[in-house]
This record gives sequence, C-alpha cells and structure tokens, in this order.
Amino acid sequence: MSSAPLLQVRGVARRYAMRRGLLGRSIDVRAVDGVSLTVEHGRTLGLVGESGSGKSTTGRLALGLEPPDDGDVMFKGAPIPPAGTLAWRQLRARMQMIYQDPLGALDRRLSILEQVREPYDVHGLGEAGERDAMATALLQAVGLRADQGSRYPHELSGGQRQRAVIARALATKPDLLVCDEPVSALDVSIQAQVVNLLVDLQQELGLGLLFISHDLKVIRQVSHRVAVMYLGRIVEEGDADLLLASPAHPYTEALVSASPVPGRRARPRIVLQGDPPNPAARPSGCAFHPRCHAARERCKVESPRLLPLPDGRLTACHVAHDQANFLKAAS
Ligand code: SF4
Repeated sequence: MSSAPLLQVRGVARRYAMRRGLLGRSIDVRAVDGVSLTVEHGRTLGLVGESGSGKSTTGRLALGLEPPDDGDVMFKGAPIPPAGTLAWRQLRARMQMIYQDPLGALDRRLSILEQVREPYDVHGLGEAGERDAMATALLQAVGLRADQGSRYPHELSGGQRQRAVIARALATKPDLLVCDEPVSALDVSIQAQVVNLLVDLQQELGLGLLFISHDLKVIRQVSHRVAVMYLGRIVEEGDADLLLASPAHPYTEALVSASPVPGRRARPRIVLQGDPPNPAARPSGCAFHPRCHAARERCKVESPRLLPLPDGRLTACHVAHDQANFLKAAS
C-alpha cells in the first residue's frame, strides 16, 4: 500500500457563471472555495453541511468529474488525469461514486444482473463465461438474492436498488467510494441497513469513503473524521468523536444540537435563523455571521481562516480561537 493518503483534495475551487436578472451581467459564483480534504486508506471522511453548501460539487471535483478552477486532486500521491482521457477512465475504476437516487443511477431497460456485470465487460475483468457468476456473487455480497438479478430496477424496493448500485460500484474493486447522500432518498427503516452494509464492506475490503450527507445522524454512524462545510468552505474538520462531542465552530454546534444522541444528555438546541445565504451574495467577513449566535463586530468584516486548535482539529472561527488562546494564556 502506498504511504501517500488515498485521496487529497488540495485547495480546490469551482466557480460557475450566473446571470443576474434577465439583462444582468454575468457574475462568478464560488460553489467551492479553497477546499482541502484528505481521505486515508480504509477510513471514512464524513462531509456534512446544509443543502447548497458545495458538498456534492466537492465530491465531483474529488473524482475528477469536474475540473477545479484552482487547486488539485491527488489519488495515492499522483494527480488525477484530465477527465475523459484513457488514464482517467482507468483510474475511475479505482474510484466509484454512489448517488442519492438509485433509480436514476440504474438503466431501467436492463436487468440488475446485466448492470452489475457491465463493469466486468467494460474493463475486461474475468473470463466472459464467468462474469454472470461474478456479478451474482456481488449481489449476494450486498444482501440481494441471486434470483433478484433477473429483475428490473422498478421491480425492486429503494433499498434493494441502492444495494444493486453498491454492488455495481464494487465490481471494479475500487479503493475509494464517494457516497453522495446515499441513503437520504430511502425510508428511515432502510437507511440503517444500507449504512451498516457500507460500514461492513469498508471493513471487509479496506475501502476509503468520502461520505457526503446533510444528516449528522448518518455522518456520526460512519465517519472516522468529519469536515463541516458552509457556503463553499470547510469551517471545521477533525476527529469525528472529538468534533461531534465538543464542536468548536458555532455552525457545527448548531448542527450537533439539532441531532441529539439517544441516551446522552442533549445540548440546548441552537436554532439556525433563516436559510443559508445565496452564494452569489456572500456575506462580508465570516459568511456565517448573519446566522451565528456568537457573532461579534469583528466577524462582519474579517474572514476567519481555517487554523488548528490545540486539540488538533481545524476551525475557522475568531471566537473559538480567541477562547483557545485565552485558555492557553491562563494555564
Ligand atoms: Fe460566528 Fe464569528 Fe465564529 Fe463566524 S467567526 S462562526 S460569525 S463567532
């Protein structure tokens, strides 16, 4: 195994042109703004934030499905080749994506077995006469029955379809799965089964996961490390247990307070006011300041940098760093 991290996203930015009004001029909207993330071999990085925070764009940048405007992405220490090239297609077999909508990810005209077998045909894996048996074994590994391979996507439940999508993603023996809201379209009762399946497969196969979700409950179940994203930037990143037990950033604190752990004393609920701002009209200073319960005057004019706290996590908050410096000086 390479000593380099499995995936390194380094200062990536992605801008989209957006027209203001019918005749308005085009402006650049920064969907992702200088994001750095690392996924280690066999570990899960949970990426959490509200809808529109740039999580999914970050996932696509991580796989090279979109080119970054700035920054770069490294897979096992080497840069990801440009999308569409032969080198990129070969590398994509090692990096797979699981989407939110399994029905949209599957071809309604093909049986489940045909679709799970497809990567073997495309990449020339195994002997042609063995590929149906290989695909059937994968279906069984994700908890489907062999006879369900002959069904079509609409004949399976949502949870079964997502299992089929996971089976197809595993066919090329990837090292990395980018899971973009993989359970949010499923019934709550089914979500836990699919999450447990991903955790089991990770332990069995040593997969690295970039797990994207707006749901902190799910992120808590799967993550070794957690990165919190707000309006295109990472605002806090660190060890999952540490960060979720004692969030330092007020945004993380609000997310954690809205997702209490059964059996543990709940924190006072912090209700976030309003919706996330429009990325085309990013607030001055700290972009979170209009919604932040701890905001000071300084927060309106000075953008906080993502810097380490003494406990090792990274946080972009003036107040969290002031408090840490005060405690350090007092000790
Ligand atoms: Fe809140 Fe200020 Fe910290 Fe931003 S920098 S999260 S506004 S306290």
